[in-house]
Amino acid sequence: MTIIESRASWGAVRPRSTSYLGSARGVKAHYTGGRVDPATLTDHEACRAAVRGIQRGHMLGNGWSDIGYSMVACAHDRAMIGRGPRVLPAANGPGLNSGHYAILLLVGTSGVTEPTDGMKRAFHGARRYLRERGAAGAQIAGHRDGYATSCPGEPVYRWVRAGAPLPSTTPSAPSADPEPLPEPEEESMPEIVSLGLEDEVVVPPSTDYQPWWTAEWKDSAGWHPTDGQSIAPNVKVWADAVAFVALRGLAPGEPVQVALTRHNDDGTMQDVAWPINRPALLRADADGRVEANLAAQFGLSGDSRARVFIRHASTGVVTLETASAFKALLHRS
Ligand SMILES: [Zn+2]
Ligand SMILES: [Zn+2]
Repeated sequence: MTIIESRASWGAVRPRSTSYLGSARGVKAHYTGGRVDPATLTDHEACRAAVRGIQRGHMLGNGWSDIGYSMVACAHDRAMIGRGPRVLPAANGPGLNSGHYAILLLVGTSGVTEPTDGMKRAFHGARRYLRERGAAGAQIAGHRDGYATSCPGEPVYRWVRAGAPLPSTTPSAPSADPEPLPEPEEESMPEIVSLGLEDEVVVPPSTDYQPWWTAEWKDSAGWHPTDGQSIAPNVKVWADAVAFVALRGLAPGEPVQVALTRHNDDGTMQDVAWPINRPALLRADADGRVEANLAAQFGLSGDSRARVFIRHASTGVVTLETASAFKALLHRS
């Protein structure tokens, strides 16, 4: 039974920011692309040190907000939480991160180059965790699927292409007292404060911005008097807000505009908070789908509120499948 390790257990530093990911089609396997210390085969502390090093490299070298992987699988049948479930990874390549969670197997181009049975079990343990906690779909692919890279290396990729079979023998008797799954940590699992949809809704075409779904945030410090009003009357706050929307029914390549906006209590729009000043123009994929992660840090004051806006001019029946949002941070300016 794979042990899921919290970020604290391997010594993660806090992410600079997080972007919400509502669901994914599955997982993609990765390798480090460099040398992996053979000590990681026998000493789990070496695994933790390796993951700390990867996080440092991704944050300081790549300038990313956090380690790029969702989870890291090591030889000890342990899956260490990287960005974790419901958070957009960064390791799959531009445009590919919302499709799949990213799982690193602790192998590389030298030192440890072959995935061990323990790593394969840990990979499946990580995948199970992402399916249970992060709405990951069934797909298992490699980083090189859809992106030009040697990752995850031949040995791991061969295993993935073969369907990622679990090793046949059980390595040890199940522990009498297995460690429970850690609860998601606050820093990587911000509070979901608004789920906008219970059922799918059809989004009619529009020439003006229409708030088909409205997300409003309330503060946790008690500034918000009642539900459904401004998040913090007469108090200036900053919110890191993100939202996820999924649409279907467009023609391939057809444009859609989405945005996070600030509104006054009377419904008039103040401005577009994400992207800055004008809505994002997105195009439907070959299946007529659009999925978007919206993220913004913006001030809300008085009676203002945050909303998600969707605009399209399709003649098809465009359906909003999912929409969700959370605040990652909310603090006084
Ligand atoms: Zn990779
Ligand atoms: Zn380990």
